[in-house]
Amino acid sequence: MNARTIGSFRGIPVKLHWGAVALAAVLGLLVANGVLPQLAPGWSDGAYLVAGFLAGASLLLSIFVHEAAHAVVAQRYDIQVSSLTLWLLGGVAHLEDEAPTPRAEALIAGVGPASSLALALLAAATAGITAVISAPTLLTAVLVWLAGLNAILAVFNLLPGAPLDGGRLLHAWLWKRHGDRSRATVGAARAGRGLGIMVAVFGLVEFLAGNPGGLWTAGIGWFLYAAAGQEARMGRVQGALNNLSLAEIMSPLPATMGDWAEVRDIVIEQGRTDDRIVAVDFGGNVTAVTSRRELVRVAAGAGQRNAVPARLRDLPLPKPVMLEIDNPAAAILRHHGKPIVVMDGGQAVGLVTALEIDRALALRRLTDEPQLAA
Ligand SMILES: [Zn+2]
Repeated sequence: MNARTIGSFRGIPVKLHWGAVALAAVLGLLVANGVLPQLAPGWSDGAYLVAGFLAGASLLLSIFVHEAAHAVVAQRYDIQVSSLTLWLLGGVAHLEDEAPTPRAEALIAGVGPASSLALALLAAATAGITAVISAPTLLTAVLVWLAGLNAILAVFNLLPGAPLDGGRLLHAWLWKRHGDRSRATVGAARAGRGLGIMVAVFGLVEFLAGNPGGLWTAGIGWFLYAAAGQEARMGRVQGALNNLSLAEIMSPLPATMGDWAEVRDIVIEQGRTDDRIVAVDFGGNVTAVTSRRELVRVAAGAGQRNAVPARLRDLPLPKPVMLEIDNPAAAILRHHGKPIVVMDGGQAVGLVTALEIDRALALRRLTDEPQLAA
C-alpha cells in the first residue's frame, strides 16, 4: 500500500493512504452540497464548503480514534502494533500477534466500536449544547452529521464477520465456547464471507437504484469477502500446524549456492533442476530463500529502475527469518509468509516456505477434522 507516514502514536507509525484523503474529500463535498444545506439552510456556498471540509477531516479523525483505541488495548496485552493506517475503506491497526485469550481478543475488538459510539454520543451532546446556546447552525449541523457517522461506524463494525470487529467478537466467543482457536477462525471467516457478499450485493443494488455511493459500499463488501477468505486460510493453516514442532514440518536444507553467483547463471542452472534457490554468503550464512520465478520477477523489476543487477546478492529479495528448531510450528504465523530458515545450534538445517505449509495442510486434511476442510 502506498501510504505515507504522517506521525506516530505511542510509538506506532500512523500512515495515511491517498485513498483516505480522497474519501474524506468526496464525502466532504457531498456533505457540503447535500446534508448541510438541508440541516442548516441559508448559508453561503463558501461556508458550506468550509464546513464540508471540516466534516471530511473529522471523519478521518474519527476513524483514527477508533483504530487508536484498538492499538491501546492491544499494547496493554503486550501485542506489538506495527502501524495504524487510514485508507480508502477505513482504518486498520496492524497487530503483530494474535490475542492471547478470548477475553483479550474481545476487549481489543470491542473497544473500537465502543469508542466510535462514545464519539457519536459526544458529538450529539455537543450539538445539543451548540443548539441551546444558539451557536452558528452550520456548526450544529456538522456535529449532528458527525454523530450519525460515528454511530454508523460503530454499528457497521459490529457486523459479525471477520475481519470486522464484530467478526473478532464472534471469533472470541466461538474460541471460548469450543476451546479451539483455529476452528473459531474458520467459523468467523465463513461468516465474514457471507457478510461480504451481502454488503456487496446491497451496494450494487444501491448503485443501480441511482446512488453512486453504492459502488463504495460494494467495494467494502468485496474487500470483506477477500479478507475473510484470507482469514479462513489462516485458520486452516493454524489448525494444520497445531501441536506440531518446526522440525516436523520443515524440509531439510537443500543444496545451497553462493549469493555471489550471477543471476543469469542461476536461471540457466535452476531451469534444469529444483525450483528452490537457497543462497549463502562467504561465511555460509543463508542470505536468501527464493524461487526461480521470484528471482526473475525481482531482477526484472530492479532492472526497470536501473540495470539488471548481475549477482543474486544485489537483488532486493526479502530477508529470510531464522527460527530455532525447538520452536512450535505455529511460530511461523508471526512472520507473514516470509521464508523461514530453521536453525540448530547456529547451523541452518531446514526450510519452511509456502511449499511446506501446503504440505502440512494437505496432511491435516487427509487425517482429520472435516470441518477444517472448508
Ligand atoms: Zn475496529
